[in-house]
Amino acid sequence: MRQRGDTIAAIATARGRAALAIVRLSGPEACRIAAACFRGADLQAVPSHTAHFGYVLSPDGEPIDQVVATVFRTPRSYTGEDVVELTCHGGDLAPQLILETLLHHGARLAEPGEFTLRAFLNGKLDLAQAEAVADLIHAGSTRAHRVSLAHLQGRYSEQLQRLRSDLLELCAYVELELDFSDEDVEFADRAQLEALLDRTGRLLDELLRSYRLGELLRDGVRVVIGGRPNAGKSTLLNALLGQDRAIVSPVPGTTRDQIEAEAEIEGLRFRFVDTAGLRATADEIEAEGVRRAQQAIAAAEVLVYVFDLTVGLAPDEQAYLTRLRTEQPALPVIVVGNKRDLLDSAPELLALDRPVLALSARRAREDAAELQPLVRELVAAVTADLGSMDDSAVVMNQRHRQHLARAREAVQAARAALDQGLSGDLLALELRRALHELGAITGEITTEDVLDQIFSRFCIGK
Ligand code: GDP
Repeated sequence: MRQRGDTIAAIATARGRAALAIVRLSGPEACRIAAACFRGADLQAVPSHTAHFGYVLSPDGEPIDQVVATVFRTPRSYTGEDVVELTCHGGDLAPQLILETLLHHGARLAEPGEFTLRAFLNGKLDLAQAEAVADLIHAGSTRAHRVSLAHLQGRYSEQLQRLRSDLLELCAYVELELDFSDEDVEFADRAQLEALLDRTGRLLDELLRSYRLGELLRDGVRVVIGGRPNAGKSTLLNALLGQDRAIVSPVPGTTRDQIEAEAEIEGLRFRFVDTAGLRATADEIEAEGVRRAQQAIAAAEVLVYVFDLTVGLAPDEQAYLTRLRTEQPALPVIVVGNKRDLLDSAPELLALDRPVLALSARRAREDAAELQPLVRELVAAVTADLGSMDDSAVVMNQRHRQHLARAREAVQAARAALDQGLSGDLLALELRRALHELGAITGEITTEDVLDQIFSRFCIGK
């Protein structure tokens, strides 16, 4: 584990050409070390939260760069320690030379996440907030960003604290009763205990349910576009990517016949996979394509199945869609009847018992409104009733989900103990277990291993 109490330094900004970069120092020696290489104000004497223009000098007295030094004194800083941020010019050289100078004067190179670890250890952030910092940096969509920010602001931690204080109250009743067990008094009103336990259980259930959305926000929603060659899959994909100023980044195709691309739609990140056709075939190369398409569909969150309205759904396609219902019952399937522009009258709107969304992918390139029904279906298919969930109640973190699940187990066990009239110590034990699990999320209870695992996810300088 890292040493505490020494002074750490790192470049906090991304490498490469940029207007500015920030080199950050934190620890008891931060002001002394910065002052040792800074020509301008006396950084050891200046007040907290002030910025100073000057030069950083190399160990042999040569100017390295013009900088602005910002001083934050303990405890009012990100880490809670003395912090100096040197804002210099970007590029590969200036920040690196400044960092080397700081190391020369006695700073140590920070490890990944060490600034945030110190902020946690000094009580500036709880563990869930510290993790939200990493999530914010990695956020790939507007909604994921919003959720991370809500967590960083502590609104999620507040929910957990409320849960904990409910459980503590329960625990206090039960334990008080245990203390007086010889005297046959009952402090805890059973009905009240039941109500409190039920409420806690419901809140935990809700948080756990939100993890599905959290996962989708974190990893993106994988949508496979399937259908016969020429149905218009590529045209539809391009239309989807082009709408809503949406292109995030095209992902290089994994195979010659499978194209992946990402787009943000309504705050969610979608990863579209355009597959080869799905028909049974004797051709070996094509059979390989079909196999890959089936694999992709097995891993999909949504399947958009496209067919050409002027051709209709072939019997084997119908059979395939029927089979899918039993093979992947949880997979939402949106059937799109494409090339609506070629039909004079309204098309037949059912494929088997599934509704068909009739549209024209070609027209959608000019008129984004053409895609609106499909976009609505896509968003609804994955978020269902979770879409409107409060950002602070969305669990995005796998570690949190595990602790929440164990806390719920403990609460259920406590409820069962209460029902069966089991002894108070058993009840208290389960309540303590639930408290412990919730405490592990915000970091009241933690181990060095857990901290190492969490903070090694961070980049150096954060
Ligand atoms: P894929 O093989 O399923 O990817 O199909 P493509 O996207 O390559 O489209 C096959 C052909 O259908 C192309 O010539 C497209 O221009 C055409 N096409 C696609 N969508 C539409 C549409 O909505 N209306 C019309 N009229 N043609 C379309």
